[in-house]
Amino acid sequence: MTIVFDQSGKDRREGQLMPAPRHPEKAHLPDNPIQRKPAWIRVKAPGSPVYSETREIVKGHRLHTVCEEAGCPNIGECWTHRHATMMIMGDTCTRACAFCNVKTGLPGQLDPEEPENVAQAVAKLGLRHVVVTSVDRDDLPDGGAEHFSRTIVAIRAASPGTTVEVLTPDFLRKDGALERLMQTPPDVFNHNLETVPRLYLSVRPGARYFASLRLLDRAKQLDPKGFTKSGLMVGLGESREEIMQVMDDLRSAGVDFLTIGQYLQPTRKHAAVDRFWTPEEFAGLETIARAKGFLMVSATPLTRSSYHADADFAQMKAAREARAQGA
Ligand code: SF4
Repeated sequence: MTIVFDQSGKDRREGQLMPAPRHPEKAHLPDNPIQRKPAWIRVKAPGSPVYSETREIVKGHRLHTVCEEAGCPNIGECWTHRHATMMIMGDTCTRACAFCNVKTGLPGQLDPEEPENVAQAVAKLGLRHVVVTSVDRDDLPDGGAEHFSRTIVAIRAASPGTTVEVLTPDFLRKDGALERLMQTPPDVFNHNLETVPRLYLSVRPGARYFASLRLLDRAKQLDPKGFTKSGLMVGLGESREEIMQVMDDLRSAGVDFLTIGQYLQPTRKHAAVDRFWTPEEFAGLETIARAKGFLMVSATPLTRSSYHADADFAQMKAAREARAQGA
């Protein structure tokens, strides 16, 4: 049967309104059975009173969070500390990465009030450090760089003591986009490599490894005093040696902070987990990364880009100061 969606994204099969699929481009893919998670991947269930307050503030300002849209396992813990990661420029992504649970399709227009709404929510949440990310907006001439910049400015105006970390798309083929964003440099510029170069075509087909690496390098050149950060998922079939090569590449690009976490398969249509790395293996990766010179490393099964980002930012700043003093 042909399924027709109306303009509101509803399926009108048999006269019923059904929600549109979150990932229409994956509907034809074969199912990948979801493996049972090992005992070391256990998370706090959402539902504390502070969790509900965080949710109300986010919804009250008509915002999206990557915590919800990506189905992050840490939401129970993070939102109990009011640590919500804002996802700007809508809830619909123009890419179709094999690991990501954010809805895909054609996004709507930018909300010009969103930067101010984010700023007001950050102020209400009382965040010392906020992470702002976005969907990929390949449909916009600047990939959303100006919208990021306006959001940084609005947060700083409303909460002058809050440090701002942005986790951006790659702005592929958008000349001048990074330069536009860096006119208002964030405290931390984060862009995730996600996986090793060999797996890009299957895991991150719309992206290019060296373009992402160059973006990080250029961000550091544009603001040498700022911090840069990147992240990897493991469990997609990469080898330890390949990860070590990526670490060297990131250090060559001057990246300060590396996060490494376990990939978890969101649905049967997403890439299969190849294996679960053990906590001991993560500890081994952290030791290697620190030896390679990163100022800060977070490598645990549940590490995500924004997990404990405020405390980690404070540690990274302290590490830079200690290094400058030759400690
Ligand atoms: S780790 Fe990041 S994305 Fe996940 S719940 Fe925490 S703040 Fe949100």
